[in-house]
Amino acid sequence: MLRFNDIADRVLDYSPNADLELMQRAYVFSAKVHEGQERLSGEPYLVHPLEVAGILGDLRMDDITIVSALLHDTLEDTLTTREEIERIFGDKVAFIVDGLTKIARIEFTSARERQAENFRKMLIAMSKDIRILLIKLADRLHNMRTLEHLEEEAAHRIAQETMEIYVPLAHRLGIRWMMQELEECAFRALHPQAVEEISRQLTGSRDERARYIEEMIGAISAILEEGGLKVEVKGRLKEIASIHRKMHAQDLDVDQIYDVLAFRVVIEGPPESCYAALGLIHAAWRPVPSRFKDYLGNPKQNGYKSLHTTVIGPYGERAEVQIRTSEMDRDAEYGISAHWKYKATDQDGTEEDQKRFSWLRQLLEWQRELSDPHEFLDTVKMDLFPGEIFVFTPRGEVINLPRRASPIDFAYAIHSEVGNECSGARVNGKMVPLRHVLVDGDTVEIATSDKQSPRKDWLEFVVSGKARSHIRHSIRVNERVRSIQLGREILTREFRKSGFSLSRLAESGELDGLASAQIKGANQDELFAAVSYGKIPASQLVAALKGEKAQEPEARDAGEPLQERFRSLFRKRPEPTGSDSSGILVGGVGDVMVRFGGCCDPLPGDDVLGFVTRGRGVTVHARGCARVFELDPQRRIDVQWDAEKAVPRKVSIRITSRDRTGILAKITNTISAASINISTVKVSADDKDHSIQTYELWVSNTKVLNAVMKELSRVKGVLSVDRIRG
Ligand code: MN
Repeated sequence: MLRFNDIADRVLDYSPNADLELMQRAYVFSAKVHEGQERLSGEPYLVHPLEVAGILGDLRMDDITIVSALLHDTLEDTLTTREEIERIFGDKVAFIVDGLTKIARIEFTSARERQAENFRKMLIAMSKDIRILLIKLADRLHNMRTLEHLEEEAAHRIAQETMEIYVPLAHRLGIRWMMQELEECAFRALHPQAVEEISRQLTGSRDERARYIEEMIGAISAILEEGGLKVEVKGRLKEIASIHRKMHAQDLDVDQIYDVLAFRVVIEGPPESCYAALGLIHAAWRPVPSRFKDYLGNPKQNGYKSLHTTVIGPYGERAEVQIRTSEMDRDAEYGISAHWKYKATDQDGTEEDQKRFSWLRQLLEWQRELSDPHEFLDTVKMDLFPGEIFVFTPRGEVINLPRRASPIDFAYAIHSEVGNECSGARVNGKMVPLRHVLVDGDTVEIATSDKQSPRKDWLEFVVSGKARSHIRHSIRVNERVRSIQLGREILTREFRKSGFSLSRLAESGELDGLASAQIKGANQDELFAAVSYGKIPASQLVAALKGEKAQEPEARDAGEPLQERFRSLFRKRPEPTGSDSSGILVGGVGDVMVRFGGCCDPLPGDDVLGFVTRGRGVTVHARGCARVFELDPQRRIDVQWDAEKAVPRKVSIRITSRDRTGILAKITNTISAASINISTVKVSADDKDHSIQTYELWVSNTKVLNAVMKELSRVKGVLSVDRIRG
């Protein structure tokens, strides 16, 4: 167990002026208020804040950070108040601990919502003080290290969240060791089968590999020292998560052991000496074309600088070599915290840090436009993931874009107006279609026209969060304008037939009254939109104007419950096939005309949303489906699965496996044993060892699906099982 004195010694070592007395007080305070509490591991709770503070000590953070880390769970899990913390430890510590508590405290209905909203709050909180984020990351890292004490389902959820949010965040902040450890822990929890498979194959040749690493380190050192460079060379086995990623991305096999090794050359000297070292290495071994990456001339967005190359080694094997100075090496391991640590004040940091944080400010700007937390998360995630290219403006400025970016992404990266009015593009002087895929080094020129506006089909190929959010926003605004127009036209016509004039009603203010009576607190425009979507029939409004009650026995006035209105609106026509219920309740009612989004194939148990369509009832989408973000939120309607009518629905899953004989039979047997019908199977195998199979299954709910997917992931040789949508 980590002791407070170890942490204090570590902090005083790199920061001799740290306030030891304040840290001691925080330790004593935390020990007192957490007394009697236990972690799920059975250890005293105090172990957790100590470990978190220890991780921040590894990051060489200041005394305020260490104090806040020791106290980080006191507001959340004990009776301590913010005032108390402020009184004893000062307003800075109180602000940080309070910020951390707020992130954890918000309650939302679904796990997904909680995650999205928390993330948004976290971004807002950490933009005020970076230490909040670093403590949050350290907190998550310790929780991931002790994940085995959690129940499987909770562990899985936390690992998933870590993979989706904290790994990319650590990456974005450039704290590499933290990113790798978080990723490795999460991967082990999410894909135990793949981990077992890979580690089994790796142990087979351990000695041989160790000898090889020693030999290469010696050879590289000798070549560089002969060339007059002062270097330290390290070699290591890559993490299982990154081996797995590599196997999938490059279609490699674990047996090709040399590809799971990485060598790092750390040079004492100026940055130019990296190129000198590269030259010496390339002179000794032939480089693999296209594998050379110059992150020295073009640093990654997170500030990462290094040269990467792959050479054909002495045995004809590929060996990856990273070359950097000792300063760059420290930056790569500690990222933002490497710069933070020497700062004594609470200023905003150096210009370099400001640049690293510009993306954060960008995110906060988007979140003002995107009111839905899911949509925000979707947008952010896309931008957090690595994989970027560098392209140039005609004036030679470098623009950073995600891989597979199009000229539209480029246009939005320049300015949202340029994106909105983008009408054509030239790449390296040649006209290209807007869906053209840009590659590293392209020079891009954009033509604009004020007659152009964002198109729906752009969403099919844009890859940056910025482009996507602006396009969606603009489509939605346009759609709303159109539906207001349409509703106005419908009402003008229908009112005229009954002797009313829409414009006169509008002038007299009667129309406003009618709108707010029909939809609580609505204005004219909202009434027009509701009419155009068929949520309120024009006849109902005419009747209201005439002061009549509806014809039918059930009263259909404004006070009538919503589900009654829907029952009459979408009464399902009897179908000759006798096909049964959809299994969906709209506003609590079952027999409404319902269609399912082909894009997301929702299954009973999935979180779903309904959208009213013109004249075609309600379309149901999974909550996270990308289509949802393009639809007008005004049309959204609550739907639930009907617990009494289990209707099997079609879903697709993808299985990646080692192509061993008999594995197909094992997989299909497993599926049949769960009484699930297979509708189609597509198998694509490659000449390597992997087989990729896509199954269409008829499944009655997510519970059944999850159970069989879990079962399938246990089949020997199966590397991954994923549900795929659309
Ligand atoms: Mn904690």
